[in-house]
Amino acid sequence: MSTFSFMKDSKEDADFRLAVRDWLEENLPEELLGWVTRPPPELMRSWHKKLYEKGWIAPNWPREFGGMEATLSQQLIMLEEFGRAGAPITSRQALGHIGPILMQYGTAEQKAQHLPKMLTGEIFWCQGYSEPNAGSDLASLRTRADLDGDHFVVNGQKIWTTWGHHAQWMFALVRTDQDAPRKQAGISMILIDLATEGITIRPIRTIADDDEFAEVFFDNVRVPEKNIVGNVNDGWRLAKALLDHERIGNASPQFAIDSLEMLKKLARATGAMDDPVFKEKLIRVELDVLAQSAVVAHSVALVKADQKIGSGSSFIKLLGTNTAQTIGDLMLDAAGPNGAELDAFETPEGPVEASAYFRESRRNSIYGGSSEIQRSVIAKNVLGLP
Ligand SMILES: Cc1cc2nc3c(=O)[nH]c(=O)nc-3n(C[C@H](O)[C@H](O)[C@H](O)COP(=O)(O)OP(=O)(O)OC[C@H]3O[C@@H](n4cnc5c(N)ncnc54)[C@H](O)[C@@H]3O)c2cc1C
Repeated sequence: MSTFSFMKDSKEDADFRLAVRDWLEENLPEELLGWVTRPPPELMRSWHKKLYEKGWIAPNWPREFGGMEATLSQQLIMLEEFGRAGAPITSRQALGHIGPILMQYGTAEQKAQHLPKMLTGEIFWCQGYSEPNAGSDLASLRTRADLDGDHFVVNGQKIWTTWGHHAQWMFALVRTDQDAPRKQAGISMILIDLATEGITIRPIRTIADDDEFAEVFFDNVRVPEKNIVGNVNDGWRLAKALLDHERIGNASPQFAIDSLEMLKKLARATGAMDDPVFKEKLIRVELDVLAQSAVVAHSVALVKADQKIGSGSSFIKLLGTNTAQTIGDLMLDAAGPNGAELDAFETPEGPVEASAYFRESRRNSIYGGSSEIQRSVIAKNVLGLP
C-alpha cells in the first residue's frame, strides 16, 4: 500500500490505514472534494456528523470525554489518509481549541453542557480574541465585562472572527479588571451564547472571495457569571494555553498533504514535472511536509505525556506556515503564465485551483499569531535574545 509517512507502519497500523482509506473511499462525499477555502457550513455539518457516528471526530480526545483516544500512530495515519483523500478539516475552534481547555480548566457543568455538542457538531464555536486595536498585541484588548449581580455585562468589539456568523457560541477574552497593574492581569476567558440580546454579527468577505470572517459587536450583553472559564482575571494563562493548541493544529500536515497531491496533479498536466529545477523544489517541499508530520507527531506525543510544549508551538507553526507558502508559490510556478487566473485549471486528474492555494497560504503567516511574533517568541524564550 502506498503511504506518505515518515514512520513505517506496524502490521496493526497498516490494517488501520487500510480501514481508514477504505472508509474514506466509501464515505467522503464528492461535493467535499477540491475545496481550497472552507466548504459551506451545511456540507461541513453533515461531514462532521458522519465522522461523529463513525467515532472518529475527535481522535485525540480522551474516551472519558467521548473521544477516540487514538494512539499516536493512528492519529498520524488519520491526518495522512484524510489529507491524501482531500477530506476537509473539521472546525478546529471547538474540538481543537476550546474543547481541550474546558477539559482542563472548565467546571463540571461547563464540560457537561458543551463537550458533547462539540462532538456531535450541533454547536459551532468561534474564537473572540482579536480586536481592531489588539491583534499581535492581544493583551491590549478593550472589550470589557463588568459584573452586575450574577451576570457580566459585555461591551466592545471583536474582529477577524472565523465563521463568527455561522457559530452559535464564542469563547472570548474580555477585560474584567480595568485597573490591573499589568494589562495581562485584568483579562478573563468567557463563554458567550451568540443568541444573547445585544450582539450584532457582520460577515467580512476576503480576497479569496470567501466570507471566512465576521466582526462581532457587543452592546450591554448579559452573560452569566458561571460562564467564566477558570478564574476571573486569570484568562491570559488560559489564552496562551489555547494558543499552543491552536498553533500546533495550524501546522497539521493534513492540508499540506492534500495541497501536495494537487500540486503534483497540476505539474503533471502543465509539464512542470519535466523541469528538473521545479522537480528539485518539489522534492524539497515534500521532505518539508514529512518533517512537519514528524514534528507535529512529536508534539502530540508530548501533549499525551502531559509535557509542556511552550515556545515549541511557535516553531511548529512557523514550519507549517513555510511549507504551506512554499506549496502556494510552487502552484504558481507549475501553472506558468496563467497562474494568477481565478478559474481552476482542468487537468486529466481533475480541477486544481492554483491561485486559490497561493492566496490561501498567505493567511498562515497571520492567524494564530503572525510569523514575526512567532520569531520573536523563539528569539526571546528559546535563544535568550534581549
Ligand atoms: C485567516 C485568519 C483567521 C483568523 N481567525 C481569527 C479568529 O477566529 N479569532 C480571532 O480572534 N482572530 C482571528 N484572526 C486574527 C489574527 O489573530 C490577527 O490577524 C493576528 O493576530 C494579527 O493581528 P492584526 O491583524 O491586528 O495585525 P497587527 O498586530 O496590526 O500586525 C500587523 C503587522 O505588524 C507585525 N507586527 C505587529 N507587532 C509586531 C512586533 N511586536 N514585532 C514585529 N512585527 C510586529 C505583524 O507581524 C504584522 O505583519 C484571524 C486572522 C486570519 C488571517
